[in-house]
Amino acid sequence: MHSRDAVFLEDLCPKLRVRRWRQSLHTYTGKSCIYCGKPSESIDHVLPRSRGGLSITENCVPACLSCNGHKSDADVFDWYRRQRFYDPRRAMAIRAWMDGDLRLALRLLQWAQPDLQQATADSTDADPLLTNQQDDNDWAFQVA
Ligand SMILES: [Zn+2]
Repeated sequence: MHSRDAVFLEDLCPKLRVRRWRQSLHTYTGKSCIYCGKPSESIDHVLPRSRGGLSITENCVPACLSCNGHKSDADVFDWYRRQRFYDPRRAMAIRAWMDGDLRLALRLLQWAQPDLQQATADSTDADPLLTNQQDDNDWAFQVA
C-alpha cells in the first residue's frame, strides 16, 4: 500500500551490483531455500515490500518459488510455523539472518541441513579423470 514510500536498493544501485548481491545471498545458503531446504530460485523479502520491507541483506533470504509464493504477505514466523517442513533451527536461522548475524544463521542452517557445505563443491566432475590417471599409474607401477 505504501510501497512507493520506500527507497529500494534496486532503485539506487546498478543492475549488475544487484545481481551480484542476489547471487551472494544464494551462495550463503548453498543455493537452498532458507525455509524448506529445496533449491533457491528466488529472493524472498522476509518483511514484504507491501509492508515496508527493504531490499537489504537482513530482509532478503534465498527461497524456492513455492515458499516465496505461499508466504506472500503473511508474517514470516506465523506462516512458517504452519508449514509441514517447519524446523525450529531454520526459524532461529531466519531470526539471526534478520539480526544481520549471517555467521550464526549459516551455522544454524548447517545444523538443520548437514550436507549444506557440499552443495557448493562442484569439482566432482574431475573425479573420473583422476581415477583413470591413478589406474594408469598402478598399471605402470606393476609392469616396472
Ligand atoms: Zn522453500
